[in-house]
Amino acid sequence: MNHGGEKRWDYLLIGGEPCTLAQKIDVWNPATGKLAGQVPRGGAKETALAIDAAARAFPQWAKLPAKVRSGYLTDWAERIERDAKRLAGLLTLEQGKPISEAMDEIQGSVEFIRWYAEEGKRAYGELIPGSREQQRIMVLKQPVGVVGMITPWNYPAAMVARKAAPALAAGCSVVIKPASQTPQIAIALIHHLVDTGIPAGVVNVVTGSAAEIGETMLTDQRVRKISFTGSTEVGKEIMKKAAGQVKRLSLELGGNAPVIVFPDADLAKAAQAIVDNKFENCGQMCNGINVIYAHESILPELAERITSLVRSLQVGPGTEQGIQMGPLIDETAVSRVERLVADAVERGAQVTTGGYRLGAEGLELGHFYAPTVLTGVTREMAITHEEVFGPVAPIVSFRTEEEVLAWANDTPYGLAAYFFTTDVSRVYRVSEALQAGMVAINGTSLSVPQAPFGGIKESGTGREGGHHGLEEYLELKYVSLTLP
Ligand code: NAP
Repeated sequence: MNHGGEKRWDYLLIGGEPCTLAQKIDVWNPATGKLAGQVPRGGAKETALAIDAAARAFPQWAKLPAKVRSGYLTDWAERIERDAKRLAGLLTLEQGKPISEAMDEIQGSVEFIRWYAEEGKRAYGELIPGSREQQRIMVLKQPVGVVGMITPWNYPAAMVARKAAPALAAGCSVVIKPASQTPQIAIALIHHLVDTGIPAGVVNVVTGSAAEIGETMLTDQRVRKISFTGSTEVGKEIMKKAAGQVKRLSLELGGNAPVIVFPDADLAKAAQAIVDNKFENCGQMCNGINVIYAHESILPELAERITSLVRSLQVGPGTEQGIQMGPLIDETAVSRVERLVADAVERGAQVTTGGYRLGAEGLELGHFYAPTVLTGVTREMAITHEEVFGPVAPIVSFRTEEEVLAWANDTPYGLAAYFFTTDVSRVYRVSEALQAGMVAINGTSLSVPQAPFGGIKESGTGREGGHHGLEEYLELKYVSLTLP
């Protein structure tokens, strides 16, 4: 797209045309408290126009051979990859994560898009034997239609890629509403998609009022599916409203992931993997560890190892070289972490490192909180039940496998769970017993394009990743043919 050579990320994209509005949303840099940009404050009118464009574009896009759609996606991935450094800089500017993590997120987005560029070619149907001699049964897989996509601020690039790539590969057209705190990276990514020459209207972006955009998507008959990632609270509202038109839904919601460290675990490896997961993105990860359950016999050693690793984390603005943890997204997030730590300490937890807001010179205007480890944590403390979404690692002692499994499952959430053990029987027993959509054993990294990422219980429904992620955007049509 041509802006006179200048790269800008401050427009809506409707029917292939960038458009601006007089009313804006301010985007703030969480590391400095300074303005990081402005985007249009779109609402019902702009969303309806975007749905018009997507509905017009859908039939032609759906009809294209998968190979042709794959070509656009592959080109998109290449354009993002070539621009990765600048995109990572933009992501860090508005989201706060360290530049190395932002680079990983951009690269992960590229991998997702490439994977679905290929997987879209494999939306195979079925031939099923008929019940009568003359009957032939076919099952076709066809794109759902126009999809409304609502994404969160914590992984604002990855979430666009993980939703748009399978939907577009399946033959759907899309309207994307990015989070208001991090809208520019979504626009920048889609800018690259438009530059591939993808037909106008296949992809549209509307920034602005969540209530108006959401309501319009949810009440327009032409939007046949909503894919939402965000809080369980908003996810439930969307589910209720989607019932009005029986829209299909993918909901990737909140979590309360436990990690269990059994006495036979490799403690050095467990400590490192736990810290890598817990403090990624300043603890603002939906599948991030919320509570560490350590067997009483190894708890002192594990706590010491985790504390020592956490003390060495370099905290600061994500733009600076060597920084391993940036700020929280906003003041509300800092206050929540402060409240949860205060509650735990009041009820008897001990702080082994951190436990306070960081306000040193250079950090005083940002939303920084020291990476924190708490021991002596009990199940009465709010921090074990609420999604912390911040850089705090609470450690709870347990005695038996039965007891810890009951605790780990005692939550309305069911996104991810982790455990460390070298006992092969326990590997099976515990992974089968944990109530979660994803379980990782002896490691804490889960997100890869070929596997189905997603939760059960109040962590949502539907999967992103794998062939399962493509199915989310396909309808089955059973065709019965009676031969003459
Ligand atoms: P959020 O408040 O639910 O917002 C997510 C998105 O929904 C934003 O784009 C937001 O727009 C929009 N939104 C808010 N109210 C809406 C409404 N009434 N109708 C339609 N859209 C609405 O969540 P968040 O605080 O940004 O994200 C953090 C949560 O996401 C955490 O709970 C985390 O666990 C979860 N998450 C889950 C996954 C997963 O895969 N399971 C991945 C990442 C995050 P505005 O920004 O304009 O308000």
